Amino acid sequence: MNSADSEDLARRLLAAGYHEDSLERADIAILNTCVVRQASEDRVYSRLHELKEWKTAERTIAVTGCIVGKEGDVLRGRFPQVDAVVPIGEYEDFLASLEARYDYSQGEALPQAGRTGISHYVRVIQGCDHNCTFCIVPKVRGRERHVPMEDVVAECRQAVADGAREVVLLGQNVDDYTDPTGRGGLANLVREVERIPGLKRLRFLTSHPQDLEAELLEVMAASDVVCRELQLPVQSGDDTILKRMARGYQMRHYRAIVDQARTLMPDIGLVTDIIVGFPGESEAAFQNTRALLEEMEFDVVHLAMYSPRQGTFAASRMEDDVPHEEKLRRLNDLLALQRGIAARKTARWIGRDVEVLIEGLDELNRPYGRIRQGKRAIVLRSGDAAPGQLIQVRVLQATAGQVLGVLNPAKSEPAA
Ligand code: SAM
Repeated sequence: MNSADSEDLARRLLAAGYHEDSLERADIAILNTCVVRQASEDRVYSRLHELKEWKTAERTIAVTGCIVGKEGDVLRGRFPQVDAVVPIGEYEDFLASLEARYDYSQGEALPQAGRTGISHYVRVIQGCDHNCTFCIVPKVRGRERHVPMEDVVAECRQAVADGAREVVLLGQNVDDYTDPTGRGGLANLVREVERIPGLKRLRFLTSHPQDLEAELLEVMAASDVVCRELQLPVQSGDDTILKRMARGYQMRHYRAIVDQARTLMPDIGLVTDIIVGFPGESEAAFQNTRALLEEMEFDVVHLAMYSPRQGTFAASRMEDDVPHEEKLRRLNDLLALQRGIAARKTARWIGRDVEVLIEGLDELNRPYGRIRQGKRAIVLRSGDAAPGQLIQVRVLQATAGQVLGVLNPAKSEPAA
C-alpha cells in the first residue's frame, strides 16, 4: 500500500515536470513512512536526523505516509528541518507549495530507473475496518473506503493501455471489497478486470482468513489471468492467541481455506504473516505456530516480533510480557525453520516448465520476473527476453526464494 502511495505521488510529480535524481543533486526529499512496528517508525526518525546535514534554505523535506496520522502534530516540533507534513493522498496543497517555490516547467525529464510500468497497483479499498488488537493501521489510515467497480476497471484499462501487463488489486483486507454501487464483491471485480483485453496477469492482496470466500478461489482456479497466489496472513497458529488478537477465525477455519485452495490449485503459492511474542504467547502457543509452519509449508513467511503500538487495544490493555530476548529467539527459530522449508519447497519446481512475466534485468543483466505462483524467477541464457514479455522457462536450479531456468522459445511469446 505504501508502494502504491509512492507511485501515485511520483506520477503526479513527474506530470508536474519534476524528475528523480540522487539525493546529492535533488532539491526535494520526500519520506513515505510506515509505523506498523516501532522499528519502522524509528527508521523515519533516523532518516530525518541524517537529512539534517542535507537540508539547506533552498531544499525541501516532506514527510508523508502513516506517520502523519500518528505523529503528524509532533513531527514539525521535533524536526524543524521538515518543511511539509503531507497526509496520505492529500497532495494538492503540497504540490502547489512546490510549484510556488521551484520552477521545473523547463526541466528535461530524465529516464526513470526502475519504473518499468509492467505491473500496476490499483487501490480498491483504502483504510481498514478490522480491529486486530495489535494493529495501528485502522488508526492511521482510517475506516474503509471502497472504490466503485467502474472506477477500478477504468484504472486497470488505462494501465493496460499505458503498457502494464499485470495489475495488482490492493486493500488491507481486499476480500472485504464491496462495490458501493451494488455490483458485488471481490470475485465479481476480479471477473470484470480479468476480461480486459491485453491484461496478462491479475493479482490481489492482502486476503483476510475471516473474509475470503470460496467463490473467489473458484474464480482463481478457472482463470488463465488470475495468478495462483494467496497472501493470507495467519498471525499465529494458536487459537487462544488468535482470539486475543481479535482475528475473527480459528485454526480449523484457516486450514479449511488452505485445503480448499490446494484442492482447486495444487501448486498455489501461499504467503503468510506471523507475529511472535504477542502478549500471553506461552511456549506451548509458540510451538503451535512452529508446527503450523511445518504443516502448511508456506512459500514465504513475513515474520515479526510483536511491537506494542500506542493507541491499539493490545498496547493499552495487555502486558507486553514476552521478554525481548525471548521474542528474538522465537523469531530466529522460525526464520531458520522457514528457510529450510522454502528451500525444499522451491526445489520442487526443478525440471518443470513455468510461465514468467519479465519485469526487468537484474544486476548481472539477467531478465527476472515472477512465475504465476508468485515466486521470483531468473532467466539464464535468455535469448532476447525483454521486460513485459511472457516466456516459458524450464527450471534448472532453485534457492529458498527463487527459481532459475532457461528460456523455452517454442512456448514463449515473441518479443514485442
Ligand atoms: N491486513 C493484513 C492482516 O492483518 O491480515 C496485514 C496488514 S499489516 C499492515 C501487515 C503486517 O504487519 C501484519 O500482517 C502483521 O503481521 C504485522 N504487524 C502489524 N502490527 C504489528 C505489531 N504491532 N507488531 C508486529 N507486527 C505487526
